[in-house]
Amino acid sequence: MSADPVLTLADLDRWSFSGTALAVLGHPIKHSISPAMHNAALAVMAAREARFATWKYFRFEVHPDDLPAALPRFHAKGFHGLNLTVPHKILAFARVAAVDPAAQPVGAVNTLRTTPAGWQGFNTDGYGLATAVREELGLDLAGTPVVLLGAGGAARGAAVECLQRGCASLWIGNRTVANLDDLLAQVRPLAGSIPLHGFDLSAPAGLPAHALVINATSAGLRDTDPLPIDLGRIPHPLGVYDMIYNPPLTPLLALARSRGLPHANGLSMLIHQGARALEIWTETAVPVEAMRKAAHAALGGRP
Ligand code: NDP
Repeated sequence: MSADPVLTLADLDRWSFSGTALAVLGHPIKHSISPAMHNAALAVMAAREARFATWKYFRFEVHPDDLPAALPRFHAKGFHGLNLTVPHKILAFARVAAVDPAAQPVGAVNTLRTTPAGWQGFNTDGYGLATAVREELGLDLAGTPVVLLGAGGAARGAAVECLQRGCASLWIGNRTVANLDDLLAQVRPLAGSIPLHGFDLSAPAGLPAHALVINATSAGLRDTDPLPIDLGRIPHPLGVYDMIYNPPLTPLLALARSRGLPHANGLSMLIHQGARALEIWTETAVPVEAMRKAAHAALGGRP
């Protein structure tokens, strides 16, 4: 058995772990590098503080049809915290006992913490994105014009984070205009005086100069995917952040590199959203560098 076996709900029926259990639920889950990141951090924390020696992070394959019944079962079995990944983040939002106020406008949760009344939901993806953009590109979302590509779940979290942090303006582009219109309607109440615009990805026009470009589409996951946008339509971008981390250099990032633009992939976002989740569960500082090292190792050492 590997160090991080893929568990199922049948394993939950027989659950007898006596330590503090954390887990990620997803469908599919076998490619998740979260167990490697979190268990590496917990090992470092255990060397510092003995109480963490009994903490362990597991992974469970859970079909979305099973999620509503599974969430109370994980709670009843005494799990201390859960991470939720594709496709559970929105499904779980309506099924937790309480939602952190910052996660309310996102409408999705990726981190659950046990409480006597049930699960409390948080969303650490926005924090992960903002921290990654600052760390990798030296940019603050606050005061920066942002061109955001995509209108799915990841884009919604990013749009909320940009608006909550006070970006200078937000331009959201998407392939399917109806999905774009839905997202614009959802986030417009957060915009206040921040200019908020939508555009069709296939015909970008009037985009702001000196903007941070964030790719939150899944275009780039496969070699055959088209570029999400013609970068040439954005005057003098400040940098390009692609939420995709596997492959590590998407065609969009390769184009940014060839133009000498600062660029980074989504691995740093994944690491920082995980670090924030672990902080929520442990209520103490977490070793981000250990998580980063484990994430790179789990992806085969690619930078
Ligand atoms: P969704 O399925 O909810 O949304 C997908 C988005 O991509 C939609 O806007 C869709 O547009 C767009 N899209 C898909 N294919 C194309 C294409 N060929 N050309 C242009 N646009 C396209 O996915 P998520 O929002 O959950 O995830 C988006 C990406 O972000 C994924 O690659 C995911 O791996 C990554 N991600 C990374 C994280 C990290 O921590 N680094 C965290 C979360 C997500 P349309 O509306 O037209 O269908």
